[in-house]
Amino acid sequence: MAKLSIADLELAGKRVLIRVDFNVPLSQTLAVTDDTRIRAALPTLRHALEHGAKTALISHLGRPKGKVVPSLSLAPVARRLEELLGRPVPMAPDCIGEAVKTAVAALPPGGVLMLENCRFHAEDEKHGEAMSRALADLCDIFVNDAFGAAHRAHASTVGVTQFVPVSAAGFLMAKEIAYLSQALERPVRPFIAILGGAKVSDKIGVLKNLVTKVDALLVGGGMAYTFLRAQGVEVGASLLEADKLDVAREIMEACRARGVTFLLPVDHVIAEKADAAAPTRIADSTGLPAGWRGLDIGPKTREVFATAICGAKTIVWNGPMGVFELPPFARGTLAVASAVAASGATSIVGGGDSVAAVTQAGLADKITHLSTGGGASLEFLEGIALPGVAALTEKKGN
Ligand code: AMP
Repeated sequence: MAKLSIADLELAGKRVLIRVDFNVPLSQTLAVTDDTRIRAALPTLRHALEHGAKTALISHLGRPKGKVVPSLSLAPVARRLEELLGRPVPMAPDCIGEAVKTAVAALPPGGVLMLENCRFHAEDEKHGEAMSRALADLCDIFVNDAFGAAHRAHASTVGVTQFVPVSAAGFLMAKEIAYLSQALERPVRPFIAILGGAKVSDKIGVLKNLVTKVDALLVGGGMAYTFLRAQGVEVGASLLEADKLDVAREIMEACRARGVTFLLPVDHVIAEKADAAAPTRIADSTGLPAGWRGLDIGPKTREVFATAICGAKTIVWNGPMGVFELPPFARGTLAVASAVAASGATSIVGGGDSVAAVTQAGLADKITHLSTGGGASLEFLEGIALPGVAALTEKKGN
């Protein structure tokens, strides 16, 4: 990676502001229900603490829209982090201002302070200069470990870097970028991408970029029906983006022109509505009856996709193969998760649903890299430079 890493820096006694992505789900009683993102930042946090930094952590949580929303305080996250680190993690009353600055400066080397939700200030998302300067005022070194927020140019991800002398990548950020860029730039072949999820429109850029990189493209989920319709297949009441039929044709044509294998579902689990109690049927490749929706890939498709997956050496997967939240429509996604886990390929899984499928199936340790950032990993796959990464200081000698 051409950017400075936290490992390159002398941290002892320095005030280090680390942007983390602690945007975790909370229960009604405000307990952290999934601490994956907190755990993912631990290598960077432990490194900073062990090397004697005075560490302030900053993150967003939910969408407070520029107002103080007590239920979106980072206090429950600080409590969970205390358990994981085995040391106190006091909570600051805000993320900027004189009191916060004094509290950071007063930390002992190896001490850590959790700042309050940066999105309590509207200026964060607006990339405001005053907030960027106020954040820079808290620290000698800025470290960005929030891969999940790297596609956003906010005060706490990009603005602050304009006013601090040194901005470096944390270990999680570096790892995410390393896996994704290795797959895109130097994949061991065959390289296949599996895309699913609701809409083609969310993934057009990713599809167009991946067509130029992969050997095979497997498309499932709701987005498959726009491609099938573009091939003339009846899709019943399935998700269909009628204004994207041309784009679908263009992508399939690009695959043909480049010799990229393009696989769509050849059968479907269908129902009249997306309801766990609705009667289901299997529809074959001739199409879906009127009024019925395709809600998962069918048994033949599970086999076809698994065969393609088992021959791959590099796999990128983003998006579920069906309405995975409902058990009758989860089998396709779970079958893909099992095939990816069993493939022995370098596998990178991104997006909340695909990561959840792998985790629920108990296969997380069989995946090479589970990405913590759905939106950021999609923009990376689209070939877009992530502003949070671009803003970091270049390593000397590059
Ligand atoms: P995305 O955020 O684009 O990755 O889409 C995820 C959502 O797509 C999930 O909530 C799934 O329930 C939904 N989805 C996947 N397959 C289908 C389908 N065949 N019909 C409707 N929704 C689907």
